[in-house]
Amino acid sequence: MNTHWMLNTNGDPSGAVHRFLRDLWPAADLRALVVPPAAPGERRLLTDPSRLDEVDIFQPLMLMNLAKAIPEVLKEYPDGRVGILLRPCELRALTEMARRGAFSTDRLLTICVDCPGTFPEDEFEWRSARSKSGLTDEALQFAPQGGIAAYRYRSACQMCISPGATEADVNIGVLGLPVHETLLVDAKDSRVDWARLTGGPADPALVKRRESMLAKLTERHTQRRERIIRELTASLPADVDALLDQFEHCAACGACMDACPICSVTRPRPVEGRFRREDVVGWLASCAGCGMCEQSCPQHLPLNAIFAKVREKVEEA
Ligand code: SF4
Ligand code: SF4
Ligand code: SF4
Repeated sequence: MNTHWMLNTNGDPSGAVHRFLRDLWPAADLRALVVPPAAPGERRLLTDPSRLDEVDIFQPLMLMNLAKAIPEVLKEYPDGRVGILLRPCELRALTEMARRGAFSTDRLLTICVDCPGTFPEDEFEWRSARSKSGLTDEALQFAPQGGIAAYRYRSACQMCISPGATEADVNIGVLGLPVHETLLVDAKDSRVDWARLTGGPADPALVKRRESMLAKLTERHTQRRERIIRELTASLPADVDALLDQFEHCAACGACMDACPICSVTRPRPVEGRFRREDVVGWLASCAGCGMCEQSCPQHLPLNAIFAKVREKVEEA
């Protein structure tokens, strides 16, 4: 069965996705859709598809990991189907939260969008004030090449080895594609008439082009991750025990765990001031790489690099 579909954009990729989601809403029988917040701390839930135009789907800014909002939203809508529009790292977190028993995904429709990367909040504000066309347009303009200004992105994004939307119920492909002509939709649900919601089956050459861009980004980001870890090696904890020592000094703060979607389900708790080794290993082993922990750390510790390095050590062991 074909799973790849064309989404013709006619020069307006955001508008094309808005229209697609508006048509998908009744076809998927959605009661509500969780979308990225427009301001820090906001939980944004649409109950009316006509308001989709207000959502800046490709905005290169990530204020929270949306997966965290799902347990509460599913309680609010105990009967209907709920959609969630998210980035690949948020989907990874959502999958891990479900695996840990936070909720069942039966009533969820996950809609994931390729992610060229996101800026830290202050950098986003600074650039927005100076950008003529807006940062969303800039991000889309360079999506065919896999993104721009990568060195200014959040470090989690610089090190993100899976920025492609491939694992959701509905995946919207952007990277490597001529976005002002077409995007790709990869969806498998046989109850939905995808040919009607899209421009029909995708050109296999475009599917291949996106796959090769995703492979290139994985390679590029893996190299960057290794370089970042190498450059910081002297200041990073060498292994789990060194990380536990680190936490012994700062654990009272807990901001990284407050921000972490995995910790919202099972959070390591200190016993007599020290975390248990297995709890921290279990946390890091399932890390989704979203970088919300680093973004919240008042000591500005390079938590993405720290966790990646300690994870490597755990895997080696
Ligand atoms: S970590 Fe990856 S998926 Fe998440 S915002 Fe950054 S580039 Fe996108
Ligand atoms: S540890 Fe950090 S990067 Fe990993 S899932 Fe939690 S918040 Fe995201
Ligand atoms: S947010 Fe930073 S300072 Fe606070 S507990 Fe986590 S690592 Fe330590």
